[in-house]
Amino acid sequence: MALLVQKFGGTSVGTIERIEAVAEKVKGFREQGHDLVIVVSAMSGETNRLIALAKEIMDEPTPRELDVLVSTGEQVTIALLAMALQKRGVPARSYTGHQVRILTDQSYNKARILQIDEQRIRSDLDQGRVVIVAGFQGVDEDGNITTLGRGGSDTTGVALAAALKADECQIYTDVDGVYTTDPRVVDTARRLEKITFEEMLEMASLGSKVLQIRAVEFAGKYNVPLRVLHSFKEGSGTLITVEDDGSMEQPVVSGIAFSRDEAKLTILGVPDVPGVATRILKPISDANIEVDIIVQNVGADNKTDFTFTVGRGDYKRALEILQNLKDELNAREVRGDSKIAKVSIVGVGMRSHAGVATKMLDALSQEGINILMISTSEIKISVVIDEKYLELAVRALHSAFELDADKSKEE
Ligand code: ADP
Ligand code: ASP
Ligand code: MG
Repeated sequence: MALLVQKFGGTSVGTIERIEAVAEKVKGFREQGHDLVIVVSAMSGETNRLIALAKEIMDEPTPRELDVLVSTGEQVTIALLAMALQKRGVPARSYTGHQVRILTDQSYNKARILQIDEQRIRSDLDQGRVVIVAGFQGVDEDGNITTLGRGGSDTTGVALAAALKADECQIYTDVDGVYTTDPRVVDTARRLEKITFEEMLEMASLGSKVLQIRAVEFAGKYNVPLRVLHSFKEGSGTLITVEDDGSMEQPVVSGIAFSRDEAKLTILGVPDVPGVATRILKPISDANIEVDIIVQNVGADNKTDFTFTVGRGDYKRALEILQNLKDELNAREVRGDSKIAKVSIVGVGMRSHAGVATKMLDALSQEGINILMISTSEIKISVVIDEKYLELAVRALHSAFELDADKSKEE
């Protein structure tokens, strides 16, 4: 018998039939004697639909009202799942984030969970009920509804598991675990039995949306055992673990992440004097635009070319800011490119291996892929390339680092 927090994502509750199937599954776990807290997302497509409605009224919807709107998606699925369980004779109760009291800070649309009041949940569990909690939403100290950012139901699941000291947080989704890369893009991608928190954090932050970054951060910080599984297929999924104890041979690269959500800006020929980088980046950060990779290069004429990447959604605004800065900084030219992508290799095994970057660059050059920018850290190397080569690059790297599944061994 265990206390489990199980989160079911949007496609897993995307139709009434699937909600009924989730209820069957939960009933099975209940019959095994487990205490269950179930977190659900909105039906797939619903959050997008609600955001689109808001945008029909205003281009940039007011953040507070947007949260009031998008949080309704999860309120629908908690009630439907509770009904589907009750119909099966399983006592169940649904709660919104506000009712549990998932207290967050006040940053609408990207709120952080500060505290969870688990009393109500515990008392329901003690009375033999399955507790169903709306993912993605919370409430600030003034009672305003907040949401946790796209994919935020994962974080609700992990945070509840941490607060309740659950035995495991299980993320049920439409893939049977974490793969070496997105299996929708590379069909030779392989499911990982295990991946370390560190690697998973890099994968999530570099574009693999199978888990929300904050969920992984939270699980790492509070030591929540976290597992990704398929909602409707049997299997042990992927366990996210603490650093490998060395008992297993560590591959150099564990996974490949990628993101199309990138854009690149360059301001050319600015004087090479102290403070220039700040003068370029300050107005960007003042506009709340996050900068990712930065490259600065001093030419023979003592002028600097300064290049950085931002999320594609911020591209136009960032370009405008640079264009306004051009004269003030005495720059020669401003250039931008929004058709780029970032591909990253991730692995704790990189720490103990030399030559990983060379191998990566070599694999890409053999495919004739030009590298626009490179950024490295202890356990990842990212390259920025032309968007049109993205899939080719991911496949080439997947083979070069021997991640391909051996299809001949399957069924
Ligand atoms: P949910 O609605 O259940 O939260 P998501 O769509 O957010 O599901 O996440 C699951 C999807 O993540 C998969 O369908 C898959 O395409 C994608 N994905 C991206 N990278 C990976 C990866 N490395 N391993 C598994 N899935 C991945
Ligand atoms: N429904 C929200 C979204 O689509 C939260 C989630 O599914 O995790 O982003
Ligand atoms: Mg998700």
